[in-house]
This record gives sequence, structure tokens and C-alpha cells, in this order.
Amino acid sequence: MRNFRYYLPASDIIFGSGSLNSVGVEAKRFGKKALLVTGKSSMKRLGFLEKCVDFLKKEGLEVEHYGEVISNPTVDIVNRGARIAIEKNCDVIIGFGGGSAIDTAKNIAVVAGHFEGKDISIWEFSGAVENPRPITSKTLPVIAITSTSGTGSHVSRFAVVTNEKTREKMGILSLFICPKVSIVDIDIISCMPPSLTSKTGFDVMAHLTECLVSRRSNPITDFYCLKGVELVLEYLPRAYRNGEDLEARENMAIADTLAGWALVTSRPCLPHAMSHPVSAFYPEVDHGEALAALTCECMRFNIERGDEETVRKYCEIARIGGKNINSFTKEEALKSIDVIKELLEKIDLNVRLRDFGVKEEDFEGMVRSAFSTMRGPIEANPVDVSDRDIIELYKKSM
Ligand code: NDP
Ligand code: MN
Repeated sequence: MRNFRYYLPASDIIFGSGSLNSVGVEAKRFGKKALLVTGKSSMKRLGFLEKCVDFLKKEGLEVEHYGEVISNPTVDIVNRGARIAIEKNCDVIIGFGGGSAIDTAKNIAVVAGHFEGKDISIWEFSGAVENPRPITSKTLPVIAITSTSGTGSHVSRFAVVTNEKTREKMGILSLFICPKVSIVDIDIISCMPPSLTSKTGFDVMAHLTECLVSRRSNPITDFYCLKGVELVLEYLPRAYRNGEDLEARENMAIADTLAGWALVTSRPCLPHAMSHPVSAFYPEVDHGEALAALTCECMRFNIERGDEETVRKYCEIARIGGKNINSFTKEEALKSIDVIKELLEKIDLNVRLRDFGVKEEDFEGMVRSAFSTMRGPIEANPVDVSDRDIIELYKKSM
């Protein structure tokens, strides 16, 4: 038995069909003016943006809408949103959409909260700079309304931002950005088209499998991970095949929440460390796609060099996936890769890096980016990894 430290920051989760209608009452607790952060089109097109604004106004809130978020949001997008929050004196930042909108809201809350009269950038708070500015309780409160089941961002203390100039995709990490309230409305999530369901759903699987084997794992987090893996294997293919299968949608939203808690109390490892540089160099590659291309080779690497505990955990994944496991050996553990491959087949996400036009000549730069921005996940990997290993793994994932 290991010694460990476990702390789960509290997000007040309001879960279920129609829960968007609680946003006004919740936001009112934090002040009078809200900045509502969304992507460019989906929430508007589906009619949820208007509903959300109405719910907020009904409770007497003033609403500023910032609808400029794109996938893999950039430093500039965060800073521009923060300027609006500062100019309009917003009291609460509401991230409404997928991980990109929620992360941008969190980052805006940091920048706006720490504004003291002269221009600041979210990048100053990132671990990529030499002496990052501390993120403090001045951070504005964040409410998350998640429209995907993927990132766990609605309950996590992470936010991702991409610096286009340095080609670095970086996690901002602080307890203060953890959403105070988290709304999980299945009616919104159910509108995801199949391709988005598969990409975001596989992100959930990656969080669970990585946090399970991570050096930062602990016996409490392991429960979330194992249950989450079971839910994803059963319900992701169903949600992919039929988006209106509400039972599947609900269980994927629960798996996403379990995975978010796993991210907070353990840490992802190699696939996440290697996936960020892919999206930083090729911004059109979605996070879930990059993970799908990388996960199986990373698993093989970890199983081949892993210790007893790591091998046993991969065996448990295989067993949950219906494989017959007779003993906790490396050979049996490799069956977990088949489980993942079969899942990827079912959700039409059996992809390789070359499918996205990734070029070998970028590998050196991508490895440097991984070590500068994702050192935490690299160190959390159950097996030591060198820059050569990462290049080999990129090659094998081509
Ligand atoms: P995004 O938020 O990037 O959204 C992807 C696309 O889906 C957008 O075009 C969006 O449209 C659309 N969309 C979102 N919800 C719906 C819906 N219900 N129906 C129809 N279309 C919808 O996707 P993810 O949730 O996968 O977030 C990915 C981001 O999160 C990445 O930047 C990743 O790095 C980050 N991430 C963060 C983590 C964290 O802990 N904070 C962990 C893992 C990943 P539109 O833009 O028009 O709204
Ligand atoms: Mn992820």
C-alpha cells in the first residue's frame, strides 16, 4: 500500500435533462454581470444560446456574449475575451460549450481577475514561461455548461491554451479555475453529431486509462477509472450509433465526470503528453483524434517496460473489455490494446497520424514542445520516457 494525498475540489454539479434552466439562479449568486463564452456557431444554431441568455436575464443578470472560441483556443482569443470582461466589469464567467469554450472561460477568469491596470496575457500564468505569475483567489468565479462528453473540464482544475507563435499547447493549472457550478444538460449533449461523439468520447477513454496507470494514481481514483472504462466501452458505441439514445448519453456524461475527477486526483500520461504537440503543430487535428492515433502504441510501450502494478492495471482494462485474463502477465495485458482497437473500430476512429498529414520532419520540434509543455504528464507515465522513445512512438503511430 502506498502513501498518497487526495483532494477533490468541489464543483456543484447540476445534472440532467433541462438543467440549463438553473443557470440564472446559480449565476446570480456571484454577481450582476456575466460574460457568456461560447464557440462561434453550434449553441446558437441549436437554439441553446438564446435560452441561456433568457434564463440569465430572467434572474436580472446583464449578459455580455463572447462567441469567438475555436477548437484549440489561442492566447489571443483568451486575452480578447478577458478585455471584454475587464471593460464590462463582469462578476462571473460562464463557459458554455465543449472543452474549448469552458477552458477559454477559465482562462479569461484568470486574466480578468488579476488585471491591475496594465495589459496582461494568459501566457504569463503558464508553466511555459520562466517565472509564471501565480494564479490566486482573485480569479473570477467560473460556471461551466458542458455540451460535449469529453474533456472533463466542467469539473477540473485545468484549462488548455495554444500559443500560435511558439507552437506550444499548454495546460493552465489551478484550483481557483475549477468551476464553482457545473451544468450537465443531456438535451444539449445529445445534439453532438456522430463524429464529435466519437472524438470527444475517446478523450474520456484516454483520461481514464491514463489516469489509471499513472504514477500519480491512487486507490480512490482507480475506482473512477475502472468504472469509467466500463461505461465508455458499453455506452460510447451506442451514443455514436444513435445520438438520441439518452441512456447512452447520460452514462457517457457520467463517465466524462468520473474522468474529470480522475484528471484532478491523478494525472494523464504519455498519450496526452504526445497529443498536445500534434494539435499545436497541426491545429486542425482535434484532441480526440490525436489521442486515437497515439494511444495504442503508448500502451504497448508501457506494457512492454511496465512494472507489475502497471501490467496488472492493463490486465484489468482487458478484463473489463471482456477478455479472458488468466494471470497478470505482459502477454495478457496486451489484450487491453485489442479492447481499445475494437472500440476505435466501432466508433470509426481507427486513425493514424499520417491520415492527418503529420510529417516526420516535425517530430523533433514536437518532442521539444512535449518536454516544454507536458513535463507533468511525461513524468507521470508509469515508465520512464526519453526524447528518442517519443520520436519512435510518433513513428510507430504514423
Ligand atoms: P470543442 O469544445 O473544441 O468543440 C468541438 C466542436 O464541437 C466545435 O466546433 C463546437 O462548435 C462543436 N460542438 C460542441 N458541442 C456541441 C453539441 N452539443 N452539438 C453540436 N456541436 C457541438 O471540443 P471538446 O469538448 O473536445 O474540447 C476540446 C478542447 O478541450 C481542446 O482544446 C482540448 O485540448 C481541451 N481539453 C481540456 C481538458 C481540460 O482538462 N481542461 C482535458 C482535455 C482536453 P462551436 O465551436 O460552434 O460551439
Ligand atoms: Mn484530454
